[in-house]
Amino acid sequence: MASESFGFQAEISQLLDLIINTFYSNKEIFLRELISNCSDALDKIRYSSLTDPTVLETERELYIRITPDKENKLLRIRDTGIGMTKVDLVNNLGTIAKSGTKAFMEALSSGADISMIGQFGVGFYSAYLVAERVQVISKHNDDEQYIWESSAGGTFTITPDTVNEPLGRGTELRLYLKEDQLEYLDEKKIKDIVKKHSEFISYPIQLVVTKEVEKEVEDEDEEEESKTEDKIVEVEDEEEGKKKKTKKVKEIETENQELNKTKPLWTRSPQDITPDEYGSFYKSLTNDWEDHLAVKHFSVEGQLEFKAILYVPKRAPFDLFETKKKRNNIKLYVRRVFIMDDCEELIPEYLNFVRGIVDSEDLPLNISRETLQQNKILKVIRKNIVKKCMDLFTEISEDKDNFTKFYEAFGKNIKLGIHEDAQNRSKLAEFLRFNSTRSGEESTSLKDYITRMPEVQKSIYYLTGESLTSVRDSPFLEVLKKKGFEVLLLVDPIDEYAITQLKEFDGKKLVCVSKEGLELEETEEEKKERESEAASFDDLCKAIKDALGDKVEKVVISNRIVDSPCVLVTGQFGWSSNMERIMKAQALRDSSMSSYMASKKTLELNPHNAIIKELKKKVVEDKADKSVRDLTYLLFETALLTSGFVLEEPTSFAKRIYRMISLGLDVDEEEEVPAVQGSETEAPPAPEAAGASAMEEM
Ligand code: ADP
Ligand code: MG
Repeated sequence: MASESFGFQAEISQLLDLIINTFYSNKEIFLRELISNCSDALDKIRYSSLTDPTVLETERELYIRITPDKENKLLRIRDTGIGMTKVDLVNNLGTIAKSGTKAFMEALSSGADISMIGQFGVGFYSAYLVAERVQVISKHNDDEQYIWESSAGGTFTITPDTVNEPLGRGTELRLYLKEDQLEYLDEKKIKDIVKKHSEFISYPIQLVVTKEVEKEVEDEDEEEESKTEDKIVEVEDEEEGKKKKTKKVKEIETENQELNKTKPLWTRSPQDITPDEYGSFYKSLTNDWEDHLAVKHFSVEGQLEFKAILYVPKRAPFDLFETKKKRNNIKLYVRRVFIMDDCEELIPEYLNFVRGIVDSEDLPLNISRETLQQNKILKVIRKNIVKKCMDLFTEISEDKDNFTKFYEAFGKNIKLGIHEDAQNRSKLAEFLRFNSTRSGEESTSLKDYITRMPEVQKSIYYLTGESLTSVRDSPFLEVLKKKGFEVLLLVDPIDEYAITQLKEFDGKKLVCVSKEGLELEETEEEKKERESEAASFDDLCKAIKDALGDKVEKVVISNRIVDSPCVLVTGQFGWSSNMERIMKAQALRDSSMSSYMASKKTLELNPHNAIIKELKKKVVEDKADKSVRDLTYLLFETALLTSGFVLEEPTSFAKRIYRMISLGLDVDEEEEVPAVQGSETEAPPAPEAAGASAMEEM
């Protein structure tokens, strides 16, 4: 019958070119990838057989079989898994791009290794590391048997299979090896690779080995007898004292050798398992090319029984926060039978980087996705897993280097956890690390911060902002620095979400130093002095408030600045300037929320600052002075900037600055900067410069 021809999706075609043309010596990983696909396909049919046993009727035995065929330079890898329909073949092997295709190529060009291919979900194409032509023969229960074939070069064909033996069910890959890759037909080589990369596959991996055997046969032209009978005859012959003559002949025999006989790792006692074994198991589970960072192997007994192995990887996967993707994190087994690898109920989303397996003794084998959600056993398992994860992170935190790696990769998850998981919030908070006004390049834990607090200090202070450089010299830090209070500098967008949920740590309140109501620990005397001073500025505050109108909520005397003339603080329960910036950057947010969450700003004045003192004098002298109004605006807008807000009208701000420059240079104002005076409030708000604030996504 006729074949149909298809073009590879462009990126896949590019990827194939790369795989074929890149010089790369560690090609053996192709076998790991293909075996892993076989294992996935077997998992699928086994899972569907739990609810409908008849699906196995097309082939009862579940196995993977590797057959080297030296004569034809052909390596065959078959499985009795779920197989692929014609549509599956077209979609899965060439026409539908995955996000990993591009990501993998980008990773490669920035130095990644081809062996990482599996993590990007395009492992199948690694077949072209060793093969010049690949056939995929597949039989799914819902369709006929088809042959997919391609020698790369942009196209593949699909043909109804009328030539090969029926598979019953499953898939056979035929790799026509490149001339210089024939070593992959060696039994020894194959055995080594399987041992190295696929030891923990939970289906038998058979290698079809050929043996030349010498047989003794009777040297008589008697009628042909079957081999077994031969043997019996021989034995009898010996007993009788070798009366008959025999001759030796060579015969080729084939036999299936099982390459992976180890029992499931998690059923063994942790004392008997070497770090290497944990490492190989992790790799086979995750397709990771590197060892794990930490592992926890445990069993729970009592009312409910299960065993589990949990791993923390060294790095975050490339698509950790790609929410659409279903994750294969923790594999669920029931009494050693694989059930599923995307059971969302097993672990909360913020722990989606933890990998591993759970094997329950109590769940029913035919558990369905619908019943999983209400399942009480699963809830208990989940609780245990979360607790063990906390233990695991604590263990990691005992080694500074490891913890740094961990935090770089998964710090965001910890912060998400603080936001989402009220029960473990305070435990998770122990893992937080932040820069601070004291920590230099290092970061500090909240616990260490507390040990450095002077006795008078009661709260933990923090400031949020866009970057370390932008917050390090913020005016909000002035008084705190003077008092010797350390301030945490939070510059990850997610920090603000996490910290507002956390509220306190170890009995100490977390206080944002850019928000209203900052009650700095001060003596009675200091307080009295401040209050009486503030009273003398009432007129100025009022004049400034009048000038700024509803741009600010109120104008008050500050207790938090030492050098700067003024800052803008926000309401205690509203957004901080940083949050306002983040929210504005999320372009598609509905704007109704920003209207009531957007920060109500209070302008705080520094009574000791020369500018403010001078301004006060001016106000007393002449309330209607136009320049007071102009200067007030300039002060306000500058405070917007130093307090971490975005300017709403950068053009009118700029005009005011130019006017100052003109004044400084003695330029004739009438000529050079016409039609500016008094226009600031009417000036249409300038659209925010497109690139002004980088899009930030949570
Ligand atoms: P991944 O395994 O990460 O999905 P691959 O590139 O290895 O990516 O495989 C692509 C897809 O092709 C698989 O998701 C699966 O649907 C299909 N596939 C590959 N090999 C087999 C097989 N032996 N049996 C059934 N389906 C397979
Ligand atoms: Mg794969």
